[in-house]
Amino acid sequence: MIDADIIISGLGPTGATLAGLLGQRGIRVVAFDKLPDLFPLPRAAGLDHEVMRILQELQVADRVEPFIAPYRPSEYRGMEGQLIKRLDATPPPFKLGWAPNYVFNQPALERTIRSRLTELPTVRTECSAEVLDVGQESDHVWADVRLASNQQTTRYRARYLIACDGGSSPIRKRLGITLEDLGFDEPWLVVDAIVNDDKLEQLPQTQVQYCEADRPATYIVGVGKHRRWELMLLPGESLSPEFPDGELWPLLERWLLPHEGKIWRAAAYRFHGLVANAWRHGRILLAGDAAHMTPPFMTQGMVQGMRDAQNLAWKLERILRNQSPASLLESYQQERRPHVTTTTQTAMALGRVICERDPEQARARDERLIEEQGGSISTTFRQNLIPGLTCGLIAFDSPGAGSILPQPFVRAHGFEGRLDDLTGPTVRVIAIKPLTDEDRNLMHKSLSPIGGILLELASDTDRASEAGKFFEEQPTLSRWLIELDRTIVIVRPDHYVFATAASPAEAVTLITQLYISITTS
Ligand SMILES: Cc1cc2nc3c(=O)[nH]c(=O)nc-3n(C[C@H](O)[C@H](O)[C@H](O)COP(=O)(O)OP(=O)(O)OC[C@H]3O[C@@H](n4cnc5c(N)ncnc54)[C@H](O)[C@@H]3O)c2cc1C
Repeated sequence: MIDADIIISGLGPTGATLAGLLGQRGIRVVAFDKLPDLFPLPRAAGLDHEVMRILQELQVADRVEPFIAPYRPSEYRGMEGQLIKRLDATPPPFKLGWAPNYVFNQPALERTIRSRLTELPTVRTECSAEVLDVGQESDHVWADVRLASNQQTTRYRARYLIACDGGSSPIRKRLGITLEDLGFDEPWLVVDAIVNDDKLEQLPQTQVQYCEADRPATYIVGVGKHRRWELMLLPGESLSPEFPDGELWPLLERWLLPHEGKIWRAAAYRFHGLVANAWRHGRILLAGDAAHMTPPFMTQGMVQGMRDAQNLAWKLERILRNQSPASLLESYQQERRPHVTTTTQTAMALGRVICERDPEQARARDERLIEEQGGSISTTFRQNLIPGLTCGLIAFDSPGAGSILPQPFVRAHGFEGRLDDLTGPTVRVIAIKPLTDEDRNLMHKSLSPIGGILLELASDTDRASEAGKFFEEQPTLSRWLIELDRTIVIVRPDHYVFATAASPAEAVTLITQLYISITTS
């Protein structure tokens, strides 16, 4: 007997997000976590606009507002304290409908996503429920789960199982899936503190990377009074996960003394760059930290896992509804692995700038960086460091394919808000030039087998009330398409652009191409 469509092992941010995205699609999910409650201490400190867009889809973006705050610029300081590099976000209007980066509180975010799961009738969650073993047959997958409530092991069956069971993923190990080491392995101490009011203004007002050879360090301005220090550990220093208090305060005294704040948590970590060599084994797939780990210099670890969830949700839905063959899942690793690898390599490159321990090399790095920027420091936009899709289900030759659809604020009949809230996470074809009735009919016809929607940009707010039309508050989407010299965009349910077209006829061909690529093996 099948208990659910999907079993999820692990209810961290990846598993909870996936459960929510599937549950909102009416997919039956049973999700287990071995812990009695979520992990209560801080880990991730930064998230980005793609996560906010996912939270928007989960209908909890407004609920997270109390515990997120704008991410400050990151200043890289060299051996003499001089500015050698600066990262920041692009100013408004924000292309994806949210500020590019925020600081946040991971336990509060996870609590919010889990609260959303309780509102979804097809999602069932079990805590204190450890997945002990998994296996699969030709038509189903099973998981043996020990429930603390009765100390019994119960076998659950489903069509697919997603291992979201974290960096030490027992399922990944059980399947014998190896990790590729991208070549980064550094021990760091992470200290989270709640700082007294009068001390807050004496501390730096930006994020700071102290690129100092004797001890590279990071300082992060968190939400409210939360401040984080990440300090590289030197040979011989404690690597125990819970760092001894006696060794902690001397490391912090440059910024904070014991009477100036309270330690929330201090823990040592190894910052790695690792990526699984296989993300799918038949009906079992890996997602989140189970599939990859990145050093936190781009604040992308959790973000990558939530992207995995978004990539999987629409594909699993299509397969479970018999709209696409199981081979659609091949595109999961094809798309996500190169994206994760590139993003992790960029984080590692930033880490190497920070982690230089040789004073001579560090001084040479300072000079080189300043010289490369023409003598004065220019700002790098963080979101430009994140790649688009380069492999998988996109029309490679098409301009803009693989990038993320901009999300303007729009008006339509009886609607004012962000574009995704108008359309939902479906295939969308959006035209920014008026269509003839004939073109419109042809496009509707080519779209109907996929189940997507067609939207047309209205020239003014009055026309936005006509069926299938919308008006952009600011020309975020239209300007982007005009810059590509295109008038129509074809978008996947996860907001990645499949293709752009210069004419309705070209769009019809590309829509058919999308249909073929997601329905044939
Ligand atoms: C110091 C530090 C700083 C970071 N900074 C950032 C940042 O700024 N931005 C960012 O995006 N990311 C950051 N990260 C990374 C981020 O915290 C992780 O990437 C994220 O938590 C991974 O989510 P996950 O759901 O994949 O795994 P996890 O959060 O590890 O969740 C896995 C879950 O699986 C459960 N589980 C394990 N085994 C079983 C089993 N057998 N049965 C049932 N349940 C099981 C566990 O109990 C756990 O709840 C940081 C991490 C650290 C350590």
